[in-house]
Amino acid sequence: MATPLHFVSNKVYARLTTGRFNTLRVAFVLLTQLIYFGLPWLNWQGQQATRFDFDNMRLYIFGLTLLPQDFIYLAAALIVCALGLFLWTMLAGRLWCGFSCPQTVYTEIMIWIERWVEGPPNARRKRDAAPWGAEKILRKGTSQLLMGLFSLWTGLTLVGYFTPMRELAANLGAGHIGYWELMFALSYGGFTWLLAGVLREQVCKHMCPYARFQGAMFDHDTLLVAYDDKRGEPRGARRKTGAVIPIAAVTDNVGHHAPAQGSCVDCGLCVQVCPTGIDIRDGLQYECIGCAACIDVCDEVMDKTGQARGLIRFSTQQAMAQQVPLKPLRQRPRALIYGGLLAAIIVMSATGLALRVPFKVDILRDRAIMARESNDGYVENVYTVRIANTERDARHYRIEVESGGLVRVETPPLTVPGDDIRSFNIVLVADPAVLSSGSHSVKLRIVNRDDTRQALREEARLLMP
Ligand code: SF4
Ligand code: SF4
Repeated sequence: MATPLHFVSNKVYARLTTGRFNTLRVAFVLLTQLIYFGLPWLNWQGQQATRFDFDNMRLYIFGLTLLPQDFIYLAAALIVCALGLFLWTMLAGRLWCGFSCPQTVYTEIMIWIERWVEGPPNARRKRDAAPWGAEKILRKGTSQLLMGLFSLWTGLTLVGYFTPMRELAANLGAGHIGYWELMFALSYGGFTWLLAGVLREQVCKHMCPYARFQGAMFDHDTLLVAYDDKRGEPRGARRKTGAVIPIAAVTDNVGHHAPAQGSCVDCGLCVQVCPTGIDIRDGLQYECIGCAACIDVCDEVMDKTGQARGLIRFSTQQAMAQQVPLKPLRQRPRALIYGGLLAAIIVMSATGLALRVPFKVDILRDRAIMARESNDGYVENVYTVRIANTERDARHYRIEVESGGLVRVETPPLTVPGDDIRSFNIVLVADPAVLSSGSHSVKLRIVNRDDTRQALREEARLLMP
């Protein structure tokens, strides 16, 4: 069975690549980290733009406050993520893994640190194989220290999505941090260091569940990184002249039948740059994370040998096997169904959010007081009304009666400070000449007096003696 030690001893020392996909990958690393590390520092309308307040069970997203009652929107967001992943995987295979998965992104950053402190892959391989000495301890110690500090920073940043970031930073500056905040930061930071700094590509190869179930989402038209074996084989070194021998078999001038030569010069560079250490020429493999490093390096080889680029390229199984162009999206019913569902859920959720009334109301009967008679001969029922104001400013409310038989509603001033919850005692006064004895369902309308378009309808049980 593979052990963590086995994983570490099988470390891949991928060669550095340049090229358009490498540039794109670096851009994604920078963009995702800018978002991750920057978002908790961003203020919106005077408060942290994104934060989950565990104590008060509130989620703040760019001026929007979501309460537990808004769970439907979180559920919709999760469904959108799941459907989006299905659709994206079906269309683009493991492009997510190669360019934006946190594991890939953090592994890339750890390799940058390692390369900066310990040098290029060959130097690192030699040093790792060499016995321990002062230089090895110093270099490896420095790179591990930097990786550890970076990992801790990721952990502290995650805490900043739950605790106000500026408060956290001020507390850290003053030299103290809460117990749970510290535990959270150390755990997340520790996992970042372990997964991206130590296990690296082994996580993608042996631990990632996505790698295992993605096969179920692939079809013959899914985009993947593929080696064009029809063009590349038979592989072999070029003649010194660099002349390209056509793929068709050739016969030399003394009648010997020479084997045809494909475009692959068998330089092995595509294997050397692969972060998971596989040979893409062996065909589709679940270890391939779609990072396209092999495309970049092979394109360089093709340029140098005067051949057309694209021996390794993004293509589909169908297009490769039949040497045909990629199938257009409109001819892929599964993609259209997933895309349609996704669009419908996004439109419905966005409409719901746009029309959402920014306060919540709960009405509870006061069980200690049964119905009582008022001075003017009507019947009174007492309730507790709980109003949660999810806006930044204080709001004033009124309650209107909508059911027949209700004479009036007596309330104190219903004012709720911004982003707060208040409870009020209210009395419903009913006419016994209209409502018979027993329990009645009555309808109330709670209106935001500051914006009367915002109103909620609630029901209460009224007891008549
Ligand atoms: S980089 Fe290209 S030419 Fe070199 S071995 Fe790989 S597929 Fe062949
Ligand atoms: S085979 Fe190519 S695309 Fe796949 S992981 Fe290796 S380098 Fe990246």
